[in-house]
Amino acid sequence: MHDHDHSSADHSPDSHSSLGRRDLLRSAVVLGIGAAGATIAAPAVAAPAVTGPVGAAPARAGDAPPSLAPDPEAPADAPPGALAGVDVVTPTIASCNTWGAEAARGTIDTVSTNPNKILIHHTASANVTDYSQAAGYQIARDIQQWHFANGWVDTGQHLTVSRGGYVMEGRHGSLSRLQNGSGMVVGAHAPGQNSQAIGIENQGTYTSATPPAQLWSRLVELCAYICDQYGIAPTQIYGHRDYTATACPGDVLYSMLPQLRSEVAAALAGTSWSVIVDNTSAGFSAGGSWLTSSFSAERYGANYHYATPAEVSDLATYSATIPSNGSYRVEAWFPGIAGYNTSTPFIVYTGTGSSTIRVDQSTGGGAWLSLGTYAMTAGTRNVVAVSRWTTGTAYVVADAIRLTRL
Ligand SMILES: [Zn+2]
Repeated sequence: MHDHDHSSADHSPDSHSSLGRRDLLRSAVVLGIGAAGATIAAPAVAAPAVTGPVGAAPARAGDAPPSLAPDPEAPADAPPGALAGVDVVTPTIASCNTWGAEAARGTIDTVSTNPNKILIHHTASANVTDYSQAAGYQIARDIQQWHFANGWVDTGQHLTVSRGGYVMEGRHGSLSRLQNGSGMVVGAHAPGQNSQAIGIENQGTYTSATPPAQLWSRLVELCAYICDQYGIAPTQIYGHRDYTATACPGDVLYSMLPQLRSEVAAALAGTSWSVIVDNTSAGFSAGGSWLTSSFSAERYGANYHYATPAEVSDLATYSATIPSNGSYRVEAWFPGIAGYNTSTPFIVYTGTGSSTIRVDQSTGGGAWLSLGTYAMTAGTRNVVAVSRWTTGTAYVVADAIRLTRL
């Protein structure tokens, strides 16, 4: 937490520090069709006929001059689910009475001005594996006692999040002011910031452990709500150590603050995150055996890449930055032409593993085709690849991919 911390918690051994990561890994299972070699059929309805000359061999990309196709017009890429003016989620916050706080032992100061930032802390207490509400409430009561022992009138922070994702009021009066979106109680969580920063304590120690997913998603929700209520920009979320010489909120949680700001901004915008990587985008890469064509009007953007099948490792790859750990829908866009490969391998990389999906590219083109929903971890890396390693002689095609956070 900070300078005035209870020393017992500062030095409490953390015998469970690996559990947060293990929980995260456990959640990183493929949610959708993840099995290697799973086959999906392209939708039969979305297949406007694109044919070669009558009586000729099936049309092949690259055989025809680009002028055969009309002017390319990239499909609209408005993120699905984007809703203007959506209100943020109002998290359930247990009041001091609900979790069983003692009465304050003195006067709690208040200011009429609104806070201008949020400071993130960890309690430096044990990373308990009891994620129940009761366990979260008990630790909140413990924290209040530790803070009384510091000589403080009440709990120091304004809000607390348990490892199971339960949110609690900290210092008495914090909740009503937050709900009103006006004024704040003066806290005791960071000297110099107590009358202008909302302090959030996250139960646990995040020097080397990763916060449990339940804690993280609720922290995002809570920060979005605070920003919305008080008109605070999501860029104004900081770690305790940004203002005080302290290890708080731990190296791991501190390193996740850019992700927190990003996710809070997305929640405030009411939009889901989405990215399209076309074969003309910087994130696309393919070797010399991959050629480009603009033959089919079903292409995405100016052109697409194609290659002959071969038992070689010669991938066309799409790189993107996954903004946060979470569930993502992965889709592919390609022209579907009789004569293109009926079993093109698409590889989806989740960050902890990969799945291969076979796609029939002979039909169903000119639309986003879902390759499934996957639990992905944050980071910049190859997220999808198209492989040449399949049977037959029909071309495999790499055009555009889209990832959408769900
Ligand atoms: Zn702190």
